[in-house]
Amino acid sequence: MENLYKLTIQEASTKLKAGEITSSKILESIIERIEKVEPEINSYITKTFEIARAQAKESDKRYVDGKPLSDLDGIPVALKDVFCTKGVKTTAASKILEDFIPAYDATVVEKLENAGAIMLGKVNTDEFTMGSSTENSAFGPTHNPWDTSRVPGGSSGGSAAAVAADECLFALGTDTGGSIRQPASFCSATGLKVTYGLVSRNGVVSYASSFDTIGPIAKSAADVAIILNIIAGNDPLDSTTVKEKLPDYTSFLGKDIKGKKIGIPKEFYGQGLSAEVDKILKDAIKKLESLGAEVEEMSLPSTDFAIAMYYIIAKSEASSNLARYDGIRYGYSNLKKDKTKIKDLIDLYFKNRTEAFGNEAKRSIMMGTYTLSSGYFDAYYKKASQVRSLIKREYEDAFKKYDVLITPVSPFPAFKIGEKLEDPLSMYLADVNTVPINPAGVPAMSVPAGFTSTGLPVGMQIIGPHLGEGKIIEIADAFQRATEHHLKKPEIK
Ligand code: GLN
Repeated sequence: MENLYKLTIQEASTKLKAGEITSSKILESIIERIEKVEPEINSYITKTFEIARAQAKESDKRYVDGKPLSDLDGIPVALKDVFCTKGVKTTAASKILEDFIPAYDATVVEKLENAGAIMLGKVNTDEFTMGSSTENSAFGPTHNPWDTSRVPGGSSGGSAAAVAADECLFALGTDTGGSIRQPASFCSATGLKVTYGLVSRNGVVSYASSFDTIGPIAKSAADVAIILNIIAGNDPLDSTTVKEKLPDYTSFLGKDIKGKKIGIPKEFYGQGLSAEVDKILKDAIKKLESLGAEVEEMSLPSTDFAIAMYYIIAKSEASSNLARYDGIRYGYSNLKKDKTKIKDLIDLYFKNRTEAFGNEAKRSIMMGTYTLSSGYFDAYYKKASQVRSLIKREYEDAFKKYDVLITPVSPFPAFKIGEKLEDPLSMYLADVNTVPINPAGVPAMSVPAGFTSTGLPVGMQIIGPHLGEGKIIEIADAFQRATEHHLKKPEIK
């Protein structure tokens, strides 16, 4: 059996449970694939193949011993390098954590390990997940598998590229303002930003704690459902996690979507939207209509304020979260260099942080410290918090009427490496369609919807109500059963 790296989780799991293949065989196929494409793609910061081989052997033994296998048993996964992994370097793609080895596993990592998933390694991201292109990484940019002169999107660009290039069967990412959805869209993967609090953030490096979410990037909505069943749920170590009893997400697969109500918020289809993306979205919406969904244009008027609101709050929280990196307890430190050159404690902090933070992290600290300072707090942070409440309410009202809302994930397809790096504002605007969802706290998925004339992937964003992941999976899965965009693979030279 060849090309096992191409399998979806659903396919691999069925074959594993039937004894048709072994986890070790899948793993070797993936390792070979990684070694072949990594010179072009650069998704992995750290590879943990020896750990993976031992885990695969154990999974194979569970099968031989007749133990029940979970749906992720024996399935290889790539983790964005912000998930703490016991004994394995966790860098957040920052020089300040280049040698950081955590003493514990993040809750999600533990859940994956308990389910028997196989850890391939840690993949690239923008430093501290701040960015939309995976260029803000201390380990060099990741390249888009569909056109290696372009970015994979960000910040979970390593995760999305690894999925698209078949360098894993699935990956985990994080999404604070679009970091799962936008790279999934740029790379043609299926990525889900969950309801705030559905998945534990314990042991995951923070960006903006009140927006941060953790979710899967996979090859299909069906695979997303399988992963969600394992990673979602309450965690005593994260007090913001949900307490509700959660459904079996695979029960939303294979459904008829006749009569489902879909809202099309007009603010997402205006100025700045590429004509090709607009056309692909319109065709996708028509497809859903042909499957029986009822589509209606509607309005979310505060959308226009989302970017300003988001960056004020996100950077405020970021400046506070980044304060802990001083190089004293762990991470990059001048104490490990020439101690005699350090004048005092302030000088040590100054040198460590100046040398080891990248530009976007520094920009975050400056912006966030400014908006939280006493003279400006009311004008910026407080105002932004009010706008946040407004946005949240608009989404709550919308979902009284609609099952889901559909928008483009990004106004344009993947841009060139270097194109936006020197212009932070234009980089921020790459997330104009995804940032409103995080303050609303609701779930949203990026689903492959088509390709531009030059062969670049375009994603559609399906937004659902609070804890409405099932509704999203239902629509996405119906769309994927009726289309083939998500099955198309890039040719990597
Ligand atoms: N590009 C956005 C930012 O830099 C979102 C990043 C994210 O979701 N982590 O804030």
